[in-house]
Amino acid sequence: MKHACREVSRLASDALERELSLWEKLRLHVHLLLCINCRNYRVSLHRLHETLARIRAAQSRELKLTEEQREKLLAELEQRLGG
Ligand SMILES: [Zn+2]
Repeated sequence: MKHACREVSRLASDALERELSLWEKLRLHVHLLLCINCRNYRVSLHRLHETLARIRAAQSRELKLTEEQREKLLAELEQRLGG
C-alpha cells in the first residue's frame, strides 16, 4: 500500500468518527478521484460501518438476536463486503 493510500484510508475511517478539517477533506477527495483502490476501500468501509450501526441499534433496543438472525446478518455482511 502506498503511503498516500495509507493516509487516505485513515482519513476515510476518521471521517466516520469526527468532522474532518477542510484540508483533510480536500486531501481525501482529491486522492479518491485518482485512486480506484481507495474508492473501493471507502465503499466497503461505509457498508461495514452501516452494518455495525444496525447491529448496535439492535443491541441498544435490547433485542437479543436469535441464532438465525445472527447468521443472516453475518451472511449479509460478508456479501456486502465481497461486492
Ligand atoms: Zn489510494
